[in-house]
Order: sequence, then structure tokens, then C-alpha cells
Amino acid sequence: MTGNGVAPQLAVFGAGVMGIGITTLAVGRGVPVTLVDVDSARLDEARARVRNELRLAHMMGALPRTGPIGELRLAASASAAADATWVIEAITEVAELKAKVHGDIAGAVAPGTLRITNTSSIPVDELADRVPAPEDLVGVHFMNPPYLIRTLEVIRGPRTGDPAMSAVDALLATLDRKGIVVGDGPGFVTSRVLHRMINDAANVVEEGRATVEDVDALMEGCLGHPTGPLRTADLIGIDNLVDSLWVLHERTGDEGCRPSELLLRKVAEGNHGRKTGRGFYEYGAR
Ligand code: NAD
Repeated sequence: MTGNGVAPQLAVFGAGVMGIGITTLAVGRGVPVTLVDVDSARLDEARARVRNELRLAHMMGALPRTGPIGELRLAASASAAADATWVIEAITEVAELKAKVHGDIAGAVAPGTLRITNTSSIPVDELADRVPAPEDLVGVHFMNPPYLIRTLEVIRGPRTGDPAMSAVDALLATLDRKGIVVGDGPGFVTSRVLHRMINDAANVVEEGRATVEDVDALMEGCLGHPTGPLRTADLIGIDNLVDSLWVLHERTGDEGCRPSELLLRKVAEGNHGRKTGRGFYEYGAR
């Protein structure tokens, strides 16, 4: 229950990799979710994908097997978020698109409603510049998959207000996540470090120095990376990774963030990783 005794509701924008994962986490913790996407094909498959991820999360012990499951509603426009207690935007990593959607969300919800961006790399204050009520905007960088990884990055922009930060605390307590608050800036902490490393891993393969499998085996076996950087690229989605690398490159000038030719080719060929069935590795049906 919220402070005024009303059961909280979550609205999630974007039914892609992260929107589906965040929705799974929330409904699995009993929170009703309205999931909004402009792509009707994504909405058509969303219910089955959430059901599937919930089953996986239960099998892995990542979500409680007992207790209520939140209701899932699907919608195609921002007006469906009108009653939300919290809103999480997890749409494509393009600043212009995000600014437009945050404007639509701000026009639909009650003033003071927490609006989160799950951006991997765009500075929160850059978005705050272009959206109404910037005091209600916070960056919360959920990790993938959100129901499995408990720790996440919270980005307080210079214009974020105290009530919004308190609302983030309430949301994370409800979802049983642990937030670490960091300063604003391109890629925050995790993407600033991880995305550049994945890009270098792709460059090493492109230069012919090692195979995909050997790069991952070395990073796992020698350096303790849990899955290897290139398998991680497949999990993230290589299209999203490239979008984030461009954001980092454009805003920092760091040539190490210029997307590797190998990553660009994979995107052009439609080999985006797990979500398309092929990236650096091959995958069965989703
Ligand atoms: P994705 O490409 O899998 O999904 C994006 C979704 O947004 C698509 O379904 C698309 O139809 C939808 N969309 C686009 N415009 C929209 C609009 N105007 N309104 C509603 N929906 C819209 O992307 P993703 O990997 O889920 O990433 C989403 C966000 O989360 C990005 O900002 C990304 O950087 C961030 N993120 C991704 C990961 C990851 O591992 N993939 C991890 C953390 C954060």
C-alpha cells in the first residue's frame, strides 16, 4: 500500500528485452502492471513472454513461488498510465524518442508521479532539459535480467527532487531490489565501464587475435567475468549495445566507445543476439 492506502500500480513503457523483464519482476512481486508499446507485434507476444520469464524466474528461485501475481494490462498509448503510482520508461535508446515519450507520460499522470528512465547511457539531466516536471525524473538502471540481478544503479540528476528519490526507495523496497546511487553522466558507472570493455572484446575478434569463444573463455576463466563479454553482448542485444556506444562516443569523445565494425555488421545483418536467435552465438526459440 502507498502512504494514502491505495495499492500501488506500475506502468512500464517498452515491451522489449528490459520492459518484459521489469514487468516480470513486478507482477512476480504482486504489483499490477500496465505495459505500453507502440509496436502491436510486441504487445501481441508480451503476455506469453512474461509468463515464460515468470516460469524461468520461479525455476531459478529468483521470485517467490507463492503469493499473488500482479495483473498485467497491455496498452498502446500513454493515457493508459494515468493511474500509475510509478512509471518506468524502457524504450529504445534514442534520446529524442525518450524525450517525446516522457512528455506524453507527464501529460497523462498526476503531478508528482515518479517517472523513471531505464536508459543505459543517456545522462538524466540531458533528458530533464527536454521534459516537463524534471523534478519527478530519476534514472534507475535495472540490470538484465531484472528479476535475477538484485543490485541496480540509481541516477539522481541535478534537478531530481527529494520526493522522487523517496518514491524510488518505496518502489525498490516493493520489488526487493538494492539501489546504489551514483552521479549523472554518460553511461553512469556500469555502462561506462562494461560497454567499452565489450566493444574492445569485439575489436579483438575483428582483428583476428582470438575467436569469440576464446575471448569469453579467457575473460571467464582468468578474470572471473560471469558469462564473458560477447555472450553478455548477445544478452543485452547488440542493437541496443551499439545505440549506447554511440551515446557514449558522442558525449565523451572517447574513441574506445566508437562501435566496433564487427558490432555494426551484426546489427546490419539483423543478428542482434538472443532476441533474434543469433548474435555472437546461436540460440534456440525464445
Ligand atoms: P528493445 O529494443 O528490446 O525494446 C525497446 C522497445 O521499446 C520496443 O519494443 C519498441 O517497440 C519500444 N518502443 C519504442 N518507441 C516506443 C514508444 N514511443 N512508446 C512505447 N514503446 C516504444 O530495447 P531494450 O534492450 O529493452 O532496452 C530498453 C531500454 O533499457 C534502453 O534504454 C536500454 O538502453 C535500457 N537497458 C537495456 C539493457 C539490456 O540489457 N538490454 C539493460 C539495462 C538497460
